[in-house]
Amino acid sequence: MKYAGVLYNDFSAAPGVSVSFFTQGCVFRCAGCHNPETWEFDGGEDFTADILDNIIEKLTDNSIKRNFCLMGGEPLCPENLFLSYLVLSTVKEKSPDTPIYIWTGYKYEDLIKRHEQKLDAILEMADVLIDSPFIESKRDVTLKMRGSTNQRIIYLKEGNDMLKIIRNPDEAYAKRISDALEKTGGQCPCVPKYAWTEDTKCMCKAFREQSEPGPCHCGLYEKIDFNK
Ligand code: SF4
Ligand code: SF4
Repeated sequence: MKYAGVLYNDFSAAPGVSVSFFTQGCVFRCAGCHNPETWEFDGGEDFTADILDNIIEKLTDNSIKRNFCLMGGEPLCPENLFLSYLVLSTVKEKSPDTPIYIWTGYKYEDLIKRHEQKLDAILEMADVLIDSPFIESKRDVTLKMRGSTNQRIIYLKEGNDMLKIIRNPDEAYAKRISDALEKTGGQCPCVPKYAWTEDTKCMCKAFREQSEPGPCHCGLYEKIDFNK
């Protein structure tokens, strides 16, 4: 089994510090890809049990809790599913509360239609999925966790089976609301201070309980029915 590499202290992939694991081989070959050395399935390095042990050990090294980021190459193509599942299920077994971020060139709605056991299990373990291929003409270096504006941040543990939550892909707008949330200590910027309660903390109760597709009232998040 081949893999492309590991970063044990990655500060750029996700919020906080992460162990980032890169699979080898990509079916998308997007123009302008930053990691073309990960495209060939027979490139990279041999994956060994020592790498897996190191990943588990480094997740909490120096008492710092890290995210686990799975990226590529393409971690969710059929050729890489076995290794992605092996690494991810070991991370979840040994360190169950590790936040899991996955980057994929596939769209989430296409992934859930594949009905593959290992893929479904991987999606079940993930907290956040950043989906869709990189499109050079839509490249934007200011984006959070994404390379191009067509890519989406999907919060898989929020919402329910029918409705999943994405962050507004308009980064300038999303940043305005995120900045406002920081100033209010996480309280909804659309709610006056005298009305703040635990229920108005982001993600607020009103949005969590929203049963129809559509944006939250601030417009930072949106619920989408990917099953349609
Ligand atoms: S999916 Fe990712 S790794 Fe694959 S070609 Fe596109 S940007 Fe590169
Ligand atoms: S989910 Fe939207 S409406 Fe609710 S607190 Fe967060 S930003 Fe405000």
